[in-house]
Amino acid sequence: MVVPRRAPVLVLVGPSGVGKGSVVSEVQRHHPNVWVSISATTRPPRPGEVDGEHYFFIDESRFRELIDTDQMLEWAWVHGKHRYGTPREPVETRCERGIPVILEIDLQGARQVRTTLPSATFCFLAPPSTGELERRLRSRATETEAQIAQRLQTARTEMAAIGEFEHVIVNNTVAQAAREVADLLHLVE
Ligand code: 5GP
Repeated sequence: MVVPRRAPVLVLVGPSGVGKGSVVSEVQRHHPNVWVSISATTRPPRPGEVDGEHYFFIDESRFRELIDTDQMLEWAWVHGKHRYGTPREPVETRCERGIPVILEIDLQGARQVRTTLPSATFCFLAPPSTGELERRLRSRATETEAQIAQRLQTARTEMAAIGEFEHVIVNNTVAQAAREVADLLHLVE
């Protein structure tokens, strides 16, 4: 029997609005074998979001149960209101089968993965500038002014931690950032 080599797990952190979703989609478009972890969250779905596809939308008591039974690789309160976390088992299964994995999580979660999965690769996706980040956040138009202010505050905290990351990719263009992410996962075209 051929045992597949464990595939890399890439932890991708970056402020809300930096374009993580677009970059990750572009990586998957070129490399359909890459698996992006589906997080669990207690926040309600936004219009168009599908349970089990964008997130697993679960309630507080289920979230606590997953923590208590050690089924979360990491979890955090994000933007001070809702819990978000990465279910452990699907990540480990993919990685053992040789399927490259991307975790799109926040800074607090990434810090936990340093302990729970130290073999992971850690990368920060940065905006070309903070002005550009604000412009991108506003153009998304799904959030209220108060939510945008909250996200900008979280973004400033996250930007301050850029030095913790071995790899920093600036999202100048989606195509370039996606190529750099693919390189970190040792993916070849
Ligand atoms: P949104 O509510 O816009 O979908 O996501 C808000 C933030 O939650 C994002 O910046 C993202 O990094 C973070 N996030 C999403 N999933 C997870 C997760 O599983 N764990 C942690 N720690 N953060 C997450």
